[in-house]
Amino acid sequence: MVALLLLLALTAGAQPFQLPTANQALFEKGGEEKFFVGTTGKSWVSGTFGCVRSEGWQLHEGLDIRCLQRDKRGEPADPVLATADGTVAYFNTRPSLSNYGNYLVLQHRIEGLEIYSLYAHLSQIRPDLRVGQAVKAGERVATMGRTANTSERISKERAHVHFELNLLVNDRFARWYKATCPDQRNDHGEWNGQNLLGLDPRLILLEENSQGAKFSLVAFLQSQTELCRVLVRRTEFPWLRRYSALIRPNPVAAKEGVAGYEVSLNFNGVAFELIPRAASEIKGKAKFQLLSVNEPEYQKNPARRLVAKRGGHWELTGHGINDLELLTF
Ligand SMILES: [Zn+2]
Repeated sequence: MVALLLLLALTAGAQPFQLPTANQALFEKGGEEKFFVGTTGKSWVSGTFGCVRSEGWQLHEGLDIRCLQRDKRGEPADPVLATADGTVAYFNTRPSLSNYGNYLVLQHRIEGLEIYSLYAHLSQIRPDLRVGQAVKAGERVATMGRTANTSERISKERAHVHFELNLLVNDRFARWYKATCPDQRNDHGEWNGQNLLGLDPRLILLEENSQGAKFSLVAFLQSQTELCRVLVRRTEFPWLRRYSALIRPNPVAAKEGVAGYEVSLNFNGVAFELIPRAASEIKGKAKFQLLSVNEPEYQKNPARRLVAKRGGHWELTGHGINDLELLTF
């Protein structure tokens, strides 16, 4: 029994994610310059996750991790490693089809949550990898490169791997996209960037590093800062199943039946808390109802433009409505 409890404690507390290259400077005091690559002429901060570009109005949804190894021609040669145990979900080997160039997506299941890691601008993806194939944490899956969909690519000096940790919004994305944007091409199915919502990998890795066995991804998600709270009049959508750990119980809805969900969104549109609501608890008939906005958070992280203040009051923008349409499709 003691051995079993110990085993459970060890597996529950295993640190789920590791850095995707040999560059570990993230964990060194003052190591940021050695770890992040900024955009041309900008500081390392522009290589971190968040509203870090264009004076805060442009989101960078991953970490740009600096190259450590070069071949004879000065090309990046760092092995790129799976951040956690998982399976191959998708890869793109036609750089012209994405500003991510060659990129790879792995699927992970951590504390019951589906998480997707993404590695971009690769020079090569391991040729034997197939969709559905299992990979182990730390296993080499690709080689760093500087591919993109522009002829100049990423410059040699800025060579990096762009690394993301994402939640997947909707497995019916391709259908939604076709219905919503009939004139637009979707080359990547449900692996379109619009369908992947990034978390900050730096915060996750640092928290894991400091908390050790106590780190919990569910707790990390639950502790996101709320940008706004919205009521959606839908009771069935994939996020509820994929991220059921984020649903908070509500005895009223459990008794009377669920008529909608009150959803907390972080600045990037991640629905990190969902409370079922009964019809008796819902006012108004709107499909999406903006209940509140955390103004300081909006000032700090505005890049997704999910809400806006017009004529002295807050409303959902077209971007915000679009995100909610996809979430609840
Ligand atoms: Zn990047």
